[in-house]
Amino acid sequence: MLTVEERERYDRQIMIKWIGEDGQEKLKKARVFIAGAGGLGSPVSLYLATAGVGTIRIVDHERVELSNLNRQVLHWDEDIGKKKAASAGEKLKRLNPEVTIEAIEEVITEAKVSQLVAGFDLIVDAMDNLPTRYLLNKAAVDKNIPFFHGAVYGFEGRAMTIIPGKTACLRCVYHGIVPEEKFPVIGVTPAVIACIQATEVIKYIVGVGELLTNRLLAYDGLNIQFTEFRVKKNPNCDHCGHGRRKG
Ligand SMILES: [Zn+2]
Repeated sequence: MLTVEERERYDRQIMIKWIGEDGQEKLKKARVFIAGAGGLGSPVSLYLATAGVGTIRIVDHERVELSNLNRQVLHWDEDIGKKKAASAGEKLKRLNPEVTIEAIEEVITEAKVSQLVAGFDLIVDAMDNLPTRYLLNKAAVDKNIPFFHGAVYGFEGRAMTIIPGKTACLRCVYHGIVPEEKFPVIGVTPAVIACIQATEVIKYIVGVGELLTNRLLAYDGLNIQFTEFRVKKNPNCDHCGHGRRKG
């Protein structure tokens, strides 16, 4: 049941016929895991918290640096040197005290990923490197948890939604091993991609609309062009197909 305060806080979105009070209650019950409190994780968590997603776990192990502030809008000048998890947790709780925020300072490793995502209904990929994305994709596929991919570079970004067992996974699309690197990016790019991810999360929870599945969306901010690439589940995928290794 929604409280009087919640009805007022979420009034404008409850007015959307595809959401309504039922949809708002689904959002309240939802538990979303966000991997990363950086350029993508900041706007994703802000918009999921404002939308009333009941429980948000956000995980990051880094500290806030001055060079993060052009895009990581959860962290402000006064937060330089603080742990991003603590900074994120504090802002999100102030933004919406009605939702439960679990901000965890932890490195997402192969050994820990399963435990970190346990009990969560959805996983949002707000990472900045492919190796961790693969770990999250595999955990999502193994545990049958929908996975919301986003990535950015400069003025460009990508997004895709993965429903394990039904749609192509990230590994069906990407195979390479890309080393971690410092890459260029302007803050508006992760804002666009994160809002697409958050829209997908909300739609999935409420159960409306057409998800961004089996299609990789590429965004070109320089020309404001969105291009869709059809992708197929790879039967030999080593995460979701015959080539799958358990564990
Ligand atoms: Zn796959």
